[in-house]
Amino acid sequence: EMKTEQAVAWIEKANALIQSNKEYLTELDQAIGDGDHGLNMSRGFQEAEAKVSGTDYDTVADVFKDVATVLMSKIGGASGPLYGTAFLKMSMTVKDKDPVTEANLADAVEAALNGMKQRGKAEQGEKTMIDVWHPVADFLKNGQNVQADKLEETAERAMNETKDIVATKGRAAYLQERSKGHVDPGSTSSFYLFQALADVWK
Ligand code: ADP
Ligand code: MG
Ligand code: MG
Repeated sequence: EMKTEQAVAWIEKANALIQSNKEYLTELDQAIGDGDHGLNMSRGFQEAEAKVSGTDYDTVADVFKDVATVLMSKIGGASGPLYGTAFLKMSMTVKDKDPVTEANLADAVEAALNGMKQRGKAEQGEKTMIDVWHPVADFLKNGQNVQADKLEETAERAMNETKDIVATKGRAAYLQERSKGHVDPGSTSSFYLFQALADVWK
């Protein structure tokens, strides 16, 4: 389950992973985008952690709401509004659910996925972060144990599979066939998010 402490720890852990992989995210986005994904994510999650860390929260929903607000306002580009939407939808879904159970989390991730798909007008298989959120949402919906390495494995496999996809959404779509052979940057940052989640879930 997740209480406010784990929700804050999730953001702290995600930020740590993003900061230590900032250069790698930059490289991925240099290959098929405009090279700012490392900077966007590091700035956004640094600010998100600064906002929620050390704050006393009554509910997990409040933590997610603050994260959403920060990500929407601090991350430029495509990923800011998308991750902002994800945390906003999760916040709405876990309202009055404290602690957040595995079933609540499954609902929250599914709501986040649907919100992102709507916001970005993207479906699975277009070489975006949706390609990681979709299988993770399915995995959680099947009542799988969040703590199991399986969550991380599911996200990691999905991230790696974006390599073979020809992009049809986002900047990488301009490259058409040449987008193939590169892992999608946003799928990689999403993998870090779920890696962090698997780590803090109790
Ligand atoms: P920008 O492309 O505006 O520079 P970022 O580099 O921060 O923004 O983020 C790029 C990532 O955003 C991509 O790797 C992809 O995963 C994701 N993305 C881009 N467009 C969409 C979309 N329409 N729907 C879902 N995800 C998208
Ligand atoms: Mg970019
Ligand atoms: Mg950009």
